Amino acid sequence: MSNEDLHRSDSERATARSLPALPGHLAERVRRLNARDFGKTGDYVLYWMQTACRGHENPALDVALHLATHLDRPVIVAASLCSDGAYSSDRHHTFWLQGIVDAFTELHRRGIATVLHVAQLGHNVSAIEDLARGASVVVSEDMPVSPWRGRSQSLADETAVALWVVDTACIVPMRLTQRAFDRAYLYRDATRALRMQRLTRTWPEVSPVHEPKSLFNLPFVPVDWQHLDLAATVAGCAIDHGIGPVAHTRGGSSAGYARWSDFRDNRLRQYARRRINALDQDGVSRMSPYLHLGQVSPFRIAREAAKQGSDGSRKFLDELLIWRELSYAWCFHQPDHDTANALPAWARQTLADHAKDVDRSSIRGRR
Ligand SMILES: Cc1cc2nc3c(=O)[nH]c(=O)nc-3n(C[C@H](O)[C@H](O)[C@H](O)COP(=O)(O)OP(=O)(O)OC[C@H]3O[C@@H](n4cnc5c(N)ncnc54)[C@H](O)[C@@H]3O)c2cc1C
Repeated sequence: MSNEDLHRSDSERATARSLPALPGHLAERVRRLNARDFGKTGDYVLYWMQTACRGHENPALDVALHLATHLDRPVIVAASLCSDGAYSSDRHHTFWLQGIVDAFTELHRRGIATVLHVAQLGHNVSAIEDLARGASVVVSEDMPVSPWRGRSQSLADETAVALWVVDTACIVPMRLTQRAFDRAYLYRDATRALRMQRLTRTWPEVSPVHEPKSLFNLPFVPVDWQHLDLAATVAGCAIDHGIGPVAHTRGGSSAGYARWSDFRDNRLRQYARRRINALDQDGVSRMSPYLHLGQVSPFRIAREAAKQGSDGSRKFLDELLIWRELSYAWCFHQPDHDTANALPAWARQTLADHAKDVDRSSIRGRR
Protein backbone atom coordinates (compact mmCIF):
# COMPACT_ATOMS: atom_id res chain seq x y z
CA MET A 1 0.00 0.00 0.00
CA SER A 2 1.39 3.42 -0.99
CA ASN A 3 1.77 6.38 1.38
CA GLU A 4 -1.10 8.04 -0.43
CA ASP A 5 -3.35 5.07 0.28
CA LEU A 6 -2.26 4.95 3.90
CA HIS A 7 -3.00 8.62 4.27
CA ARG A 8 -6.37 8.20 2.62
CA SER A 9 -7.31 5.29 4.87
CA ASP A 10 -6.39 7.22 8.01
CA SER A 11 -8.36 10.18 6.81
CA GLU A 12 -11.35 8.02 5.99
CA ARG A 13 -11.26 6.30 9.36
CA ALA A 14 -11.30 9.74 10.98
CA THR A 15 -14.21 10.71 8.73
CA ALA A 16 -16.20 7.67 9.69
CA ARG A 17 -15.70 8.42 13.39
CA SER A 18 -16.93 11.97 13.06
CA LEU A 19 -19.99 11.47 10.89
CA PRO A 20 -22.58 9.74 13.07
CA ALA A 21 -25.25 12.24 12.12
CA LEU A 22 -24.94 11.82 8.35
CA PRO A 23 -27.22 9.38 6.53
CA GLY A 24 -25.42 6.55 4.74
CA HIS A 25 -25.96 7.87 1.19
CA LEU A 26 -24.00 11.01 2.17
CA ALA A 27 -21.44 9.56 4.60
CA GLU A 28 -20.13 7.24 1.87
CA ARG A 29 -19.23 10.31 -0.24
CA VAL A 30 -17.27 12.35 2.33
CA ARG A 31 -13.50 12.75 2.85
CA ARG A 32 -11.74 15.05 5.26
CA LEU A 33 -8.94 17.03 3.64
CA ASN A 34 -7.42 18.13 6.94
CA ALA A 35 -7.56 17.04 10.56
CA ARG A 36 -8.96 20.26 12.04
CA ASP A 37 -11.98 20.07 14.33
CA PHE A 38 -15.21 21.44 13.08
CA GLY A 39 -17.70 23.62 14.88
CA LYS A 40 -15.48 25.04 17.64
CA THR A 41 -15.48 28.54 16.17
CA GLY A 42 -17.21 30.32 13.32
CA ASP A 43 -20.70 31.57 12.63
CA TYR A 44 -21.79 29.50 9.65
CA VAL A 45 -21.17 26.41 7.56
CA LEU A 46 -19.52 27.43 4.29
CA TYR A 47 -20.27 25.42 1.17
CA TRP A 48 -17.70 26.39 -1.46
CA MET A 49 -19.49 25.54 -4.71
CA GLN A 50 -17.01 24.66 -7.44
CA THR A 51 -18.04 21.72 -9.59
CA ALA A 52 -21.61 20.87 -8.56
CA CYS A 53 -23.28 24.11 -9.65
CA ARG A 54 -26.84 23.13 -8.85
CA GLY A 55 -29.30 23.64 -6.01
CA HIS A 56 -30.81 20.15 -6.08
CA GLU A 57 -29.61 16.53 -5.78
CA ASN A 58 -26.32 17.95 -4.53
CA PRO A 59 -24.57 15.76 -1.92
CA ALA A 60 -22.13 18.53 -0.91
CA LEU A 61 -24.98 20.94 -0.23
CA ASP A 62 -26.80 18.24 1.72
CA VAL A 63 -23.74 17.50 3.86
CA ALA A 64 -23.42 21.25 4.58
CA LEU A 65 -27.11 21.41 5.55
CA HIS A 66 -26.78 18.41 7.87
CA LEU A 67 -23.71 19.89 9.56
CA ALA A 68 -25.48 23.24 9.92
CA THR A 69 -28.41 21.58 11.64
CA HIS A 70 -26.01 19.65 13.87
CA LEU A 71 -24.09 22.83 14.79
CA ASP A 72 -27.21 25.01 14.93
CA ARG A 73 -25.80 27.46 12.39
CA PRO A 74 -26.85 28.63 8.90
CA VAL A 75 -25.30 27.60 5.61
CA ILE A 76 -23.69 30.05 3.22
CA VAL A 77 -23.06 28.89 -0.32
CA ALA A 78 -20.18 30.77 -1.98
CA ALA A 79 -18.89 30.60 -5.52
CA SER A 80 -15.81 32.40 -6.78
CA LEU A 81 -14.94 32.82 -10.43
CA CYS A 82 -11.17 33.00 -10.95
CA SER A 83 -9.59 34.40 -14.06
CA ASP A 84 -6.25 32.60 -13.80
CA GLY A 85 -7.39 29.26 -15.24
CA ALA A 86 -5.69 27.88 -18.32
CA TYR A 87 -8.94 28.05 -20.32
CA SER A 88 -10.45 31.25 -18.92
CA SER A 89 -12.35 32.91 -21.75
CA ASP A 90 -15.64 34.68 -22.42
CA ARG A 91 -17.10 31.28 -23.38
CA HIS A 92 -16.16 29.60 -20.12
CA HIS A 93 -17.03 32.55 -17.88
CA THR A 94 -20.42 33.12 -19.53
CA PHE A 95 -21.42 29.46 -19.28
CA TRP A 96 -20.21 29.28 -15.66
CA LEU A 97 -22.01 32.47 -14.61
CA GLN A 98 -25.25 31.41 -16.28
CA GLY A 99 -24.97 28.18 -14.31
CA ILE A 100 -24.36 29.96 -11.01
CA VAL A 101 -27.33 32.29 -11.55
CA ASP A 102 -29.56 29.24 -12.05
CA ALA A 103 -28.13 27.46 -9.01
CA PHE A 104 -28.36 30.53 -6.77
CA THR A 105 -31.94 31.19 -7.89
CA GLU A 106 -32.81 27.68 -6.78
CA LEU A 107 -30.99 28.10 -3.45
CA HIS A 108 -32.66 31.46 -2.87
CA ARG A 109 -36.07 29.79 -3.28
CA ARG A 110 -35.00 27.16 -0.74
CA GLY A 111 -34.03 29.87 1.78
CA ILE A 112 -30.26 29.32 1.57
CA ALA A 113 -27.85 32.31 1.58
CA THR A 114 -25.47 32.79 -1.36
CA VAL A 115 -22.38 34.87 -2.11
CA LEU A 116 -20.86 35.35 -5.54
CA HIS A 117 -17.35 36.65 -6.04
CA VAL A 118 -15.88 37.41 -9.46
CA ALA A 119 -12.18 38.15 -9.75
CA GLN A 120 -12.39 41.22 -11.96
CA LEU A 121 -9.55 43.46 -12.94
CA GLY A 122 -7.81 44.83 -9.86
CA HIS A 123 -10.01 42.86 -7.43
CA ASN A 124 -8.36 39.47 -7.33
CA VAL A 125 -8.83 38.94 -3.59
CA SER A 126 -8.88 35.53 -1.95
CA ALA A 127 -12.63 35.53 -1.32
CA ILE A 128 -13.01 31.92 -0.25
CA GLU A 129 -10.06 32.02 2.17
CA ASP A 130 -11.58 35.10 3.79
CA LEU A 131 -15.01 33.52 4.08
CA ALA A 132 -13.45 30.30 5.44
CA ARG A 133 -11.95 32.27 8.33
CA GLY A 134 -15.42 32.99 9.68
CA ALA A 135 -16.76 29.47 9.11
CA SER A 136 -17.25 26.55 11.50
CA VAL A 137 -16.49 24.05 8.75
CA VAL A 138 -15.99 24.27 4.99
CA VAL A 139 -17.57 21.80 2.59
CA SER A 140 -16.72 21.49 -1.10
CA GLU A 141 -16.80 18.91 -3.88
CA ASP A 142 -14.36 16.03 -4.25
CA MET A 143 -13.04 16.64 -7.75
CA PRO A 144 -9.94 14.51 -8.38
CA VAL A 145 -8.36 16.55 -11.15
CA SER A 146 -6.60 19.89 -11.40
CA PRO A 147 -7.17 22.72 -10.77
CA TRP A 148 -9.87 21.76 -8.24
CA ARG A 149 -7.93 19.08 -6.40
CA GLY A 150 -5.07 21.51 -5.73
CA ARG A 151 -7.34 24.42 -4.87
CA SER A 152 -9.25 22.44 -2.25
CA GLN A 153 -6.09 20.96 -0.74
CA SER A 154 -4.45 24.42 -0.55
CA LEU A 155 -7.41 25.79 1.36
CA ALA A 156 -7.42 22.73 3.62
CA ASP A 157 -3.72 23.27 4.40
CA GLU A 158 -4.01 27.00 4.98
CA THR A 159 -7.30 27.37 6.81
CA ALA A 160 -7.77 26.83 10.54
CA VAL A 161 -11.11 25.07 10.11
CA ALA A 162 -12.07 21.60 8.93
CA LEU A 163 -12.52 21.10 5.20
CA TRP A 164 -14.59 18.17 3.97
CA VAL A 165 -14.99 17.24 0.33
CA VAL A 166 -17.96 15.32 -1.04
CA ASP A 167 -18.30 13.22 -4.18
CA THR A 168 -21.07 14.91 -6.17
CA ALA A 169 -20.26 13.49 -9.60
CA CYS A 170 -20.38 9.70 -9.55
CA ILE A 171 -23.22 7.27 -8.93
CA VAL A 172 -20.70 4.82 -7.43
CA PRO A 173 -18.75 7.02 -4.98
CA MET A 174 -15.08 7.16 -5.99
CA ARG A 175 -13.89 6.29 -2.51
CA LEU A 176 -15.80 3.00 -2.57
CA THR A 177 -13.83 1.79 -5.60
CA GLN A 178 -10.85 -0.17 -4.39
CA ARG A 179 -8.20 0.90 -6.87
CA ALA A 180 -7.46 2.64 -10.18
CA PHE A 181 -8.94 0.33 -12.80
CA ASP A 182 -7.40 0.62 -16.26
CA ARG A 183 -9.83 -1.74 -18.03
CA ALA A 184 -13.53 -0.92 -18.40
CA TYR A 185 -14.66 -4.54 -18.10
CA LEU A 186 -12.78 -4.91 -14.80
CA TYR A 187 -14.31 -1.70 -13.43
CA ARG A 188 -17.77 -2.72 -14.70
CA ASP A 189 -17.60 -6.10 -12.95
CA ALA A 190 -16.01 -4.85 -9.71
CA THR A 191 -18.56 -2.09 -9.18
CA ARG A 192 -21.72 -3.77 -10.51
CA ALA A 193 -23.35 -4.38 -7.13
CA LEU A 194 -22.55 -0.86 -5.87
CA ARG A 195 -24.02 0.61 -9.05
CA MET A 196 -27.19 -1.47 -9.03
CA GLN A 197 -27.90 -0.49 -5.41
CA ARG A 198 -27.73 3.22 -6.31
CA LEU A 199 -28.92 3.56 -9.92
CA THR A 200 -32.67 3.93 -9.49
CA ARG A 201 -32.77 5.51 -6.03
CA THR A 202 -34.51 8.86 -5.77
CA TRP A 203 -32.42 11.53 -4.10
CA PRO A 204 -33.81 12.71 -0.73
CA GLU A 205 -33.47 16.50 -0.41
CA VAL A 206 -32.54 18.14 2.92
CA SER A 207 -34.29 21.27 4.18
CA PRO A 208 -32.44 24.16 5.82
CA VAL A 209 -33.53 24.89 9.38
CA HIS A 210 -32.08 28.40 9.62
CA GLU A 211 -33.01 31.68 8.01
CA PRO A 212 -30.46 32.86 5.42
CA LYS A 213 -27.61 34.70 7.11
CA SER A 214 -27.00 38.35 6.26
CA LEU A 215 -23.37 39.01 5.52
CA PHE A 216 -21.77 42.24 6.68
CA ASN A 217 -18.18 43.41 6.33
CA LEU A 218 -17.28 41.08 3.53
CA PRO A 219 -13.65 41.57 2.45
CA PHE A 220 -14.86 41.99 -1.13
CA VAL A 221 -17.88 43.40 -2.94
CA PRO A 222 -20.12 40.44 -3.79
CA VAL A 223 -21.69 40.38 -7.23
CA ASP A 224 -25.42 41.09 -7.26
CA TRP A 225 -26.28 37.91 -9.16
CA GLN A 226 -30.00 38.74 -9.20
CA HIS A 227 -29.32 41.79 -11.36
CA LEU A 228 -26.23 40.59 -13.12
CA ASP A 229 -25.06 42.33 -16.28
CA LEU A 230 -23.37 39.22 -17.49
CA ALA A 231 -21.70 40.63 -20.58
CA ALA A 232 -20.24 43.60 -18.66
CA THR A 233 -19.05 41.34 -15.82
CA VAL A 234 -17.27 39.02 -18.24
CA ALA A 235 -15.82 41.99 -20.16
CA GLY A 236 -14.27 43.20 -16.87
CA CYS A 237 -12.31 39.98 -16.34
CA ALA A 238 -8.68 39.57 -17.41
CA ILE A 239 -9.34 36.58 -19.66
CA ASP A 240 -9.18 35.60 -23.32
CA HIS A 241 -11.89 37.71 -24.95
CA GLY A 242 -11.20 36.14 -28.35
CA ILE A 243 -13.25 33.01 -27.52
CA GLY A 244 -16.88 34.10 -27.35
CA PRO A 245 -19.98 32.54 -25.77
CA VAL A 246 -21.90 29.88 -27.70
CA ALA A 247 -25.45 31.12 -28.24
CA HIS A 248 -26.99 27.65 -28.68
CA THR A 249 -25.44 26.27 -25.49
CA ARG A 250 -26.62 28.40 -22.60
CA GLY A 251 -25.26 27.45 -19.17
CA GLY A 252 -27.35 26.37 -16.19
CA SER A 253 -29.65 23.67 -14.89
CA SER A 254 -32.68 24.89 -16.88
CA ALA A 255 -30.92 24.74 -20.24
CA GLY A 256 -29.21 21.48 -19.25
CA TYR A 257 -32.44 19.69 -18.38
CA ALA A 258 -34.19 21.10 -21.48
CA ARG A 259 -31.43 19.55 -23.59
CA TRP A 260 -31.59 16.31 -21.62
CA SER A 261 -35.39 15.97 -21.85
CA ASP A 262 -35.30 16.53 -25.59
CA PHE A 263 -32.59 13.87 -26.02
CA ARG A 264 -34.22 11.42 -23.60
CA ASP A 265 -37.62 11.62 -25.28
CA ASN A 266 -36.57 11.84 -28.91
CA ARG A 267 -33.15 10.27 -29.48
CA LEU A 268 -31.99 8.17 -26.52
CA ARG A 269 -33.55 5.02 -28.03
CA GLN A 270 -31.32 5.38 -31.11
CA TYR A 271 -28.16 6.28 -29.17
CA ALA A 272 -26.45 2.90 -29.60
CA ARG A 273 -26.73 3.12 -33.38
CA ARG A 274 -26.27 6.86 -33.94
CA ARG A 275 -23.45 7.72 -31.54
CA ILE A 276 -20.82 6.03 -33.72
CA ASN A 277 -21.43 8.50 -36.56
CA ALA A 278 -19.25 11.49 -35.71
CA LEU A 279 -21.09 13.60 -38.30
CA ASP A 280 -24.45 13.03 -36.61
CA GLN A 281 -24.51 15.94 -34.18
CA ASP A 282 -27.82 14.88 -32.64
CA GLY A 283 -26.84 11.25 -32.20
CA VAL A 284 -25.31 12.03 -28.81
CA SER A 285 -26.73 13.91 -25.82
CA ARG A 286 -24.34 16.91 -25.82
CA MET A 287 -24.73 16.88 -22.03
CA SER A 288 -20.98 16.94 -21.42
CA PRO A 289 -20.63 20.65 -20.45
CA TYR A 290 -23.57 20.44 -18.04
CA LEU A 291 -22.23 17.28 -16.43
CA HIS A 292 -18.73 18.74 -16.28
CA LEU A 293 -19.80 21.70 -14.13
CA GLY A 294 -22.44 19.72 -12.25
CA GLN A 295 -25.24 21.93 -13.55
CA VAL A 296 -27.36 18.81 -13.94
CA SER A 297 -27.56 15.92 -11.51
CA PRO A 298 -25.83 12.78 -12.80
CA PHE A 299 -28.12 10.84 -10.43
CA ARG A 300 -31.23 12.14 -12.20
CA ILE A 301 -29.77 11.63 -15.68
CA ALA A 302 -28.80 8.03 -14.85
CA ARG A 303 -32.13 7.30 -13.11
CA GLU A 304 -34.19 8.58 -16.03
CA ALA A 305 -32.07 6.80 -18.62
CA ALA A 306 -32.40 3.54 -16.65
CA LYS A 307 -36.16 3.95 -16.54
CA GLN A 308 -36.38 3.85 -20.32
CA GLY A 309 -34.83 0.38 -20.53
CA SER A 310 -34.06 0.54 -24.29
CA ASP A 311 -30.93 -0.63 -26.14
CA GLY A 312 -30.03 3.04 -26.53
CA SER A 313 -30.38 3.80 -22.84
CA ARG A 314 -28.30 0.75 -21.90
CA LYS A 315 -25.50 1.95 -24.18
CA PHE A 316 -25.81 5.50 -22.82
CA LEU A 317 -25.57 4.21 -19.25
CA ASP A 318 -22.47 2.25 -20.16
CA GLU A 319 -20.79 5.48 -21.29
CA LEU A 320 -22.12 7.53 -18.38
CA LEU A 321 -21.55 5.04 -15.58
CA ILE A 322 -18.63 2.93 -16.76
CA TRP A 323 -16.39 5.04 -19.02
CA ARG A 324 -17.08 8.34 -17.26
CA GLU A 325 -16.87 7.01 -13.71
CA LEU A 326 -13.91 4.76 -14.50
CA SER A 327 -12.06 7.97 -15.40
CA TYR A 328 -13.09 9.75 -12.19
CA ALA A 329 -12.06 6.75 -10.09
CA TRP A 330 -8.77 6.43 -11.95
CA CYS A 331 -7.86 10.05 -11.21
CA PHE A 332 -9.02 9.68 -7.61
CA HIS A 333 -6.65 6.77 -6.96
CA GLN A 334 -3.86 8.11 -9.17
CA PRO A 335 -2.96 11.64 -8.00
CA ASP A 336 -0.21 11.89 -10.65
CA HIS A 337 -2.70 11.03 -13.40
CA ASP A 338 -1.70 14.09 -15.43
CA THR A 339 2.00 13.18 -15.55
CA ALA A 340 3.95 10.54 -17.48
CA ASN A 341 4.24 8.56 -14.22
CA ALA A 342 0.64 7.44 -14.70
CA LEU A 343 1.52 5.65 -17.96
CA PRO A 344 2.14 1.90 -17.93
CA ALA A 345 5.80 0.85 -17.66
CA TRP A 346 5.93 -0.35 -21.28
CA ALA A 347 4.77 3.06 -22.54
CA ARG A 348 7.29 4.93 -20.42
CA GLN A 349 10.03 2.54 -21.62
CA THR A 350 9.12 3.16 -25.27
CA LEU A 351 9.17 6.92 -24.74
CA ALA A 352 12.55 6.68 -22.98
CA ASP A 353 13.96 4.50 -25.76
CA HIS A 354 13.03 7.12 -28.33
CA ALA A 355 13.77 10.26 -26.31
CA LYS A 356 16.79 11.04 -28.48
CA ASP A 357 15.11 10.36 -31.80
CA VAL A 358 15.48 13.11 -34.37
CA ASP A 359 12.51 15.47 -34.49
CA ARG A 360 10.66 14.43 -37.68
CA SER A 361 9.15 17.84 -38.20
CA SER A 362 12.64 19.34 -38.49
CA ILE A 363 13.52 16.70 -41.15
CA ARG A 364 10.38 17.60 -43.12
CA GLY A 365 11.23 21.27 -42.73
CA ARG A 366 14.68 20.73 -44.33
CA ARG A 367 13.27 19.17 -47.47
C1 LIG B 1 -12.10 7.66 -29.47
C2 LIG B 1 -12.89 8.36 -28.38
C3 LIG B 1 -12.21 8.84 -27.29
C4 LIG B 1 -12.92 9.48 -26.28
N1 LIG B 1 -12.20 9.95 -25.22
C5 LIG B 1 -12.84 10.59 -24.23
C6 LIG B 1 -12.12 11.11 -23.12
O1 LIG B 1 -10.91 10.99 -23.04
N2 LIG B 1 -12.80 11.76 -22.14
C7 LIG B 1 -14.15 11.90 -22.22
O2 LIG B 1 -14.74 12.49 -21.30
N3 LIG B 1 -14.85 11.41 -23.24
C8 LIG B 1 -14.23 10.76 -24.26
N4 LIG B 1 -14.94 10.27 -25.31
C9 LIG B 1 -16.41 10.34 -25.26
C10 LIG B 1 -17.13 11.48 -25.93
O3 LIG B 1 -16.69 11.69 -27.25
C11 LIG B 1 -16.97 12.79 -25.18
O4 LIG B 1 -17.17 12.61 -23.83
C12 LIG B 1 -18.03 13.73 -25.77
O5 LIG B 1 -17.44 15.00 -25.90
C13 LIG B 1 -19.22 13.87 -24.88
O6 LIG B 1 -20.31 14.29 -25.69
P1 LIG B 1 -21.77 13.98 -25.22
O7 LIG B 1 -22.04 14.70 -23.94
O8 LIG B 1 -22.68 14.25 -26.38
O9 LIG B 1 -21.65 12.42 -24.93
P2 LIG B 1 -22.71 11.25 -24.88
O10 LIG B 1 -22.27 10.25 -25.88
O11 LIG B 1 -24.12 11.75 -25.00
O12 LIG B 1 -22.49 10.63 -23.44
C14 LIG B 1 -23.07 11.20 -22.26
C15 LIG B 1 -21.99 11.47 -21.25
O13 LIG B 1 -21.31 10.27 -20.91
C16 LIG B 1 -19.92 10.53 -20.71
N5 LIG B 1 -19.15 9.77 -21.71
C17 LIG B 1 -19.59 9.32 -22.90
N6 LIG B 1 -18.65 8.61 -23.52
C18 LIG B 1 -17.56 8.62 -22.70
C19 LIG B 1 -16.25 8.07 -22.81
N7 LIG B 1 -15.87 7.31 -23.84
N8 LIG B 1 -15.39 8.29 -21.80
C20 LIG B 1 -15.76 9.02 -20.72
N9 LIG B 1 -17.00 9.57 -20.56
C21 LIG B 1 -17.87 9.36 -21.55
C22 LIG B 1 -19.73 12.01 -20.89
O14 LIG B 1 -19.84 12.62 -19.61
C23 LIG B 1 -20.90 12.40 -21.74
O15 LIG B 1 -21.28 13.72 -21.57
C24 LIG B 1 -14.31 9.63 -26.35
C25 LIG B 1 -14.99 9.14 -27.46
C26 LIG B 1 -14.29 8.50 -28.48
C27 LIG B 1 -15.06 7.98 -29.66
